[in-house]
Amino acid sequence: MNLRTAATRALLACTLIATSAPVLAWNAAGHRLTATIAWQAMDEETRTAAGRLVAAHPDYAIWLARNRTEDPAQGAFVEASTWPDDIRRDARFHDDSDAETRQLPGFPDMARHGRWHYIDQPLFAKPVQRPGDGELPLRMAQLVRTLGQRDSGIAARAYALPWLIHLVGDAHQPLHTVSRYDEEARGDEGGNRLWIDNPFHPRRREMTLHAYWDDLPGPPWLRGDRLGKAAERLAALGHRPESAGSVGQWLKEGQTLAENVVYEGLEGDVPTLTSAYHERAQRTANERVVLAGRRLALLLEKLLRQQ
Ligand SMILES: [Zn+2]
Repeated sequence: MNLRTAATRALLACTLIATSAPVLAWNAAGHRLTATIAWQAMDEETRTAAGRLVAAHPDYAIWLARNRTEDPAQGAFVEASTWPDDIRRDARFHDDSDAETRQLPGFPDMARHGRWHYIDQPLFAKPVQRPGDGELPLRMAQLVRTLGQRDSGIAARAYALPWLIHLVGDAHQPLHTVSRYDEEARGDEGGNRLWIDNPFHPRRREMTLHAYWDDLPGPPWLRGDRLGKAAERLAALGHRPESAGSVGQWLKEGQTLAENVVYEGLEGDVPTLTSAYHERAQRTANERVVLAGRRLALLLEKLLRQQ
């Protein structure tokens, strides 16, 4: 799609935001920013190995066509970051609860795996009746194993890479790591069931808390030069971690942020956001996106180097 004018792009962005319900991940901008920051932070050897895996994925040609940059490997790597969300709208794939679609070459299975994107850690440490929903840490552990072992085979590793890029991003969105439970142990599904009044949105004030946080990193059409510049601005933020840390650590951070920032001061059935809340939320989202990118780079360096 060739979007020529800023007005057209702005209109499309509003349309996408207005029609994407329920939103279930950092939007595409968050994932592309994380992937761009990771690519720039990775050493050459890791980029080469990642580029080879991305090129072995069955949807490589789609990614190349969608993101025409000077460096095709980087363009495809960045597009791969949203693949686990893209397949939610792709008829080749099926929801976990639906009849299975036809097995295609290069894919271990054709499921959309909606439960891989999150984990519902109970918020405010209230004991609940059922265990947390979602499979993010379990699947991250499997993807790390698959990518780190050469004998997993190139097809399995090429399938695992977009998932890993994506889930490192999701694990840094605090609302992918918690659910707030009520007295009857009903969860709010990471803020998907909590409606808020957002006076800072130009057109649509009412939205879920989850959608609000998903959209903080930027508009979903962000690509090319604008994406590069936005990634550059973000890369000036925050500290540089010495190691990727563990998934457990990222999820613990998410829980703490959910308690201290995401749900902080939200009162009433449909809370109205204050400017202080909005500023803090924007800053937190920016920091999480850049931290996810830096950690992803360190993790991939560990998994892909010398292969
Ligand atoms: Zn996701």
